[in-house]
Amino acid sequence: MQDSPEIQRLTKLLAQFPGLGPRSAKRMILHMLSHKENLMTPLASAIEKAARAIVTCETCGNLDITSPCSICNDERRDSSAICVVQSVADIWALERTRAYSGKYHVLGGLLSALDGIRPSDLSIGPLTERAHKDGVEEIIIALSATVDGQSTAHYIQTQLKDAEGLSITKLAHGVPIGGGLDYLDDGTLSLALKSRR
Ligand code: ZN
Repeated sequence: MQDSPEIQRLTKLLAQFPGLGPRSAKRMILHMLSHKENLMTPLASAIEKAARAIVTCETCGNLDITSPCSICNDERRDSSAICVVQSVADIWALERTRAYSGKYHVLGGLLSALDGIRPSDLSIGPLTERAHKDGVEEIIIALSATVDGQSTAHYIQTQLKDAEGLSITKLAHGVPIGGGLDYLDDGTLSLALKSRR
């Protein structure tokens, strides 16, 4: 039996998620269809609302309903520190620890010779600009311990080496080789943040 065009279309869309293939996409669809009232319909409207309301912060790259985002706008947060992360998922991970009260900057990826990702593909220019502004004292590089993460960190360091009075620190031990921040438990992550160097 051939799937209906509706199911084919949904399968194609869902299978684009990282880690999902057509089979798991179909399992999701089946689950949704058997919970139409309390899952499928509310999910569809929540997705539509989120797509309309959520924007990328023009300052830091965070996702929020305002730009600048609520973190950039929060005057209680320390604006002398900017924590550089690969993606918004890393902001979520760091915010969960409640160990950090500065600002963020989302690069949008990592430099990669293999995948052809160059500095101009990432938000490095805007970071350099922010780092040179008055009142910024520390750039905390919180990138994964992969080859790409470390070469990106190195590149950022060379871009910022002429900024006066700016200290550049990195997350300390605890970040597993090859792992993203997202996979760290909160205690390990907040320790890595507190013992940065
Ligand atoms: Zn922001």
